[in-house]
Amino acid sequence: MKIVLQNVLWLLSFVAYQYFCLENQAVTNIGVFFSDEKYQSEIALNTTIYKKNTVDQRANFKSTIKHVPADSFEASKILCETLNTDDGVAAVFGTESAASSILESICNQFDVPYMITSWRPPSFKKRHTVLNFFPEAELFAHALAEIVKSLQWNSFVIIYENEEGLIRMQEILKLQEYEQNSKQNNVLVKQLGSGPDHRSLLKEIKNLTENNIILDCKTENIIPILKQAKDQRLLTLYNNYFLTSLDAHTLDYSELGTEANITTIRIFDYNTTTFHHTIRRWGLLPFDYDGKVINLEADKIKTETVLFYDALLLLTDCINDLESSHTHNIATNPIDCYNENQIRSEFGLTISAYMKERKPSLTLSGPLKFDESGHRIDFNVHVVDVLDKKVIANWFASNNSLVLSRSSNETENAAVANLQKILVKVSSRLGEPYLMVKKAEEGEELYGNERYEGYSMDLIKEVAKLIGFKFEFFITSDGKYGNFDETKKKWTGLVGDLLEGRAHLAVCDLTITHQRREVVDFSMPFMTLGISILYRKEDKKEINMFAFLDPFSISVWIYTATLYLIISVVLFFISRMTPGDWENPHPCDENPEELENIWDIKNCLWLTLGSIMTQGCDILPKGISSRMAVSMWWFFSLIMTSSYTANLAAFLTKDRMEPSIDSAEDLSKQTKIKYGALQGGSTFAFFKDSNFSTYQKMWMSMSSARPSVFVQNNKDGVKKVQAPKENYAFLMESTQIEYEIETKCDLKQVGNWLDTKTYGIAMPMNSPYRSAINKAILKLQETGKLNELKNIWWKERRNEPSCDKKAEGEDNADGAELALANVGGVFFVLGVGIGIAFVLAIAEFLWNVKSVSVEEHMSYWEALKVEVKFACNVWITKKRTKPVASESSSSSSRKSDKIDNKSIVHSILHSAGSFMNLNN
Ligand code: ASP
Repeated sequence: MKIVLQNVLWLLSFVAYQYFCLENQAVTNIGVFFSDEKYQSEIALNTTIYKKNTVDQRANFKSTIKHVPADSFEASKILCETLNTDDGVAAVFGTESAASSILESICNQFDVPYMITSWRPPSFKKRHTVLNFFPEAELFAHALAEIVKSLQWNSFVIIYENEEGLIRMQEILKLQEYEQNSKQNNVLVKQLGSGPDHRSLLKEIKNLTENNIILDCKTENIIPILKQAKDQRLLTLYNNYFLTSLDAHTLDYSELGTEANITTIRIFDYNTTTFHHTIRRWGLLPFDYDGKVINLEADKIKTETVLFYDALLLLTDCINDLESSHTHNIATNPIDCYNENQIRSEFGLTISAYMKERKPSLTLSGPLKFDESGHRIDFNVHVVDVLDKKVIANWFASNNSLVLSRSSNETENAAVANLQKILVKVSSRLGEPYLMVKKAEEGEELYGNERYEGYSMDLIKEVAKLIGFKFEFFITSDGKYGNFDETKKKWTGLVGDLLEGRAHLAVCDLTITHQRREVVDFSMPFMTLGISILYRKEDKKEINMFAFLDPFSISVWIYTATLYLIISVVLFFISRMTPGDWENPHPCDENPEELENIWDIKNCLWLTLGSIMTQGCDILPKGISSRMAVSMWWFFSLIMTSSYTANLAAFLTKDRMEPSIDSAEDLSKQTKIKYGALQGGSTFAFFKDSNFSTYQKMWMSMSSARPSVFVQNNKDGVKKVQAPKENYAFLMESTQIEYEIETKCDLKQVGNWLDTKTYGIAMPMNSPYRSAINKAILKLQETGKLNELKNIWWKERRNEPSCDKKAEGEDNADGAELALANVGGVFFVLGVGIGIAFVLAIAEFLWNVKSVSVEEHMSYWEALKVEVKFACNVWITKKRTKPVASESSSSSSRKSDKIDNKSIVHSILHSAGSFMNLNN
């Protein structure tokens, strides 16, 4: 209400002024030279003069607006004509065209105050009457550099349009650092061509994978250039632009539909009440601007207009002050430029000197201060985010300081809001258990993220749930993790996808490495691991029932058996020859008629068998030579049985003895087992770049191995380790090893970690949403979700049973205990031996029955019946020499011979012995 009333009063006073005042007063003419139509400035001019004339009513101002061409001669002619009018000119507002310097020089020559509102290169010329309201060039360049520093870009490209732009960039160029080894600098400078097509330049920048761009060009060229940048995919979430044009805020960026982070600067703040009141007043006066509707919205006001207004305000204030002090009567005199004796402007120097000193009234462009040369040395620069139109920082010339006005939380929220607007593209690669192709049910077709499953998918799902964004997985085209390809001079795999703007995030078992960290950002780690060795377990010997035979080779068994027979025969002959073994059969008879030798072949065989079985024998030789022979056999038996026992223990409890490795050192010291790593991965890089002698040695061995020991993916590495023909150890990350050995029971991890590293989610450099992702991961870690996910994908969701489960159902054949299978052969031999003995016993029995039947004149069946009955009567331990005939059978004589119960074998051996015993 107050404002409306104010404006009505204003209008009324304007009408009154037109009628009563203007007619009779001496006027102070202000010359305004525009190079083209500047409606906003005209409005500001008219409104200000009007206000000064009606409200302040001291000097009576008028303006003479001239449109001057770029041609300096023509422009100077127009200025001279204006200066030479009856009213003369109290001050001149110059153009920013090429003709400006001639106008400036003429004004300076005749002490006419000359006001500029546009950028001028640094100059040391002292022009007393010139005042430039645009910030001084060096200070402005310094401000730009401070702002770029605050953006924290590691590297950037400066795109400039003309030499003036390059001068403005001088301080920014000083920020560049040279990379020591590569001789590259982190600031690239490119000039825009004549245009309007700048695609080739933008493509070049795209190929450099540079995301940060400083664009210094005319305001009207900004949108066309950004549109072309969009075509080159240089206007994504990860592209950062800094527009140095002070009118960039007047543009409409909505047509770009961009997610890029675009920052610009203003030297005034259009959100203040002073600003709003001022421009509202501008819109009230009914001037005709060629029938045009002039946009006077706060965010469409140009810097030039603001500076023009501030300059006009200061000029009119100063003239008013001088008038009202009554010390001066500011009457302007006509000036003839072409007259050599022309005197200078009477008050020009006074006005300009006073303008440099006077404290300005409420300006729109903030603090205003000039040095002696008329350069503006006090001003503020507001750093603005063009998309949300918020001021993110302010730079103050007065104390050369930059103050951030956006808290880190606000910055993060803005980034998250951006992320929520888009479909986040997540680059990944296939590899168990991180990402696998999902098997579709019959008749089902899977699309989008449904096609894949795994730890990475679940991890991003959880992160997305916490931050609230949508995402889409895609598989990187070359299937690589990401390393720098020296020949193509570009990054491969997931890292390449991020750098070339194909992905917003990259996730898999991607290791955070120093080299990758230089080109992309990583979230905080979601998994910690180290390089270790995957190797196959020593071959489990096939379970062998006759493992007890293993300690000796077949030939040793055959030799031993042959030797047993030979020694038995040799002993037989020796004992026959040695007198000591011929003994008195009846020791009570001192002069026996005959001597007896007990060492028939049967006893010899028994003695040698008893010795080698370590059981001994109830009879021993007495002759010197036979004792000698037996002791040698004992010695042989001692060594053989001890060796057998020792070897048997080793064979049954330990698997095949092979060169085994326990650490990387062991690997490096041998050549039998080949070892390798994943080609181009971080493990590969670890060995390649290591300074530690063992790893250097391993790298030499790996890199020189032919055929190559490097594999294209972990799966191939695991297969190579498992292949029976290959004796191969795979240097792999421990998390993967853990996953593999969970179900592949023939594999094991050897040794400890060789290093410690982590996996993280990668994103383009300086990603604004990095801290949001970090927070999400921290939360997942604290709530135990990360562990849960690992458990799910490493243990629960496995197609094969885990080795622990398999082991439960199996006999422990490789532990210290011996399973039945290991010693089954011994049981078998016992069984067979006992079986044979039993069969022999039956044969002996039947044979004996036959003898009995013959000797006792009984039928065979009768004798058999009697003998079986007797044998089954287990309580009877004594047997009559003659069988008791059955009731039915007649008593018949029985053989009383002591050999009745001897077995057939016994009989045979006995017969053979008798046959060989020559004295028997
Ligand atoms: N995770 C590794 C990488 O990111 C691959 C490896 O070397 O095992 O390169």
